[in-house]
Amino acid sequence: MMNPDGALVLFSGGQDSTACLAWALTNFTHVETIGFDYGQRHRVELDVRHDVRASLANLSPDWAARLKDDHMVGLASLGEVSNTSLTRDVEFAMGKEGLPNTFVPGRNLIFLTFAAAVAYRRGLKHIVTGVCETDFSGYPDCRDDTMKAMQLALNLGMERRFVIHTPLMWIDKAATWALAKELGGNALVDITRTQTHTCYLGDREHLQDWGFGCGTCPACELRRDGYVRWCAGA
Ligand code: ZN
Repeated sequence: MMNPDGALVLFSGGQDSTACLAWALTNFTHVETIGFDYGQRHRVELDVRHDVRASLANLSPDWAARLKDDHMVGLASLGEVSNTSLTRDVEFAMGKEGLPNTFVPGRNLIFLTFAAAVAYRRGLKHIVTGVCETDFSGYPDCRDDTMKAMQLALNLGMERRFVIHTPLMWIDKAATWALAKELGGNALVDITRTQTHTCYLGDREHLQDWGFGCGTCPACELRRDGYVRWCAGA
């Protein structure tokens, strides 16, 4: 059963949010996307968003009909207030709190608040995000409890009945590749592999088996590990 209410997908152009967009196109008749520019070093992912959207629409007439507006929100102030290796030219490292220095404090809380504001204005009930506890990078704003609290806060604060969906919450990176295959076949696996972007350093020069990337940053390691495990089990 397709859901007649509209959905807004937090779509960065990375592997996870591409799986989420495919999931939303499978489950909702009206799907919009939102992206955020906060001065991230891997800004190349913002450039690939349009291509990935177009490629997904090309996979099926149904998906093409369901895929609607894209919204891009500038959040330069988020980069200004967070001293992190995602927005500053510093090496990746683990911080004292046990969190990697890629952690932008409260990033997903801010993203979801802006997404809800857009969903409110556009009359969309469902908000879809690719946060995940399983391949836990230690980001507390990716936890299931954080999402449940956020849904309650947004609904109270905006007098709405938003539903936050997290299709990747309990699956690992290998299962995210499997989900792409399930939703869009080998064509979606290929789009994910060659068009989506994950590398923290924004490397689009080196096409590895699992996609473009430097191959050594934490995001590349996670993506490669998932791909290798999926291939071994698929
Ligand atoms: Zn990388």
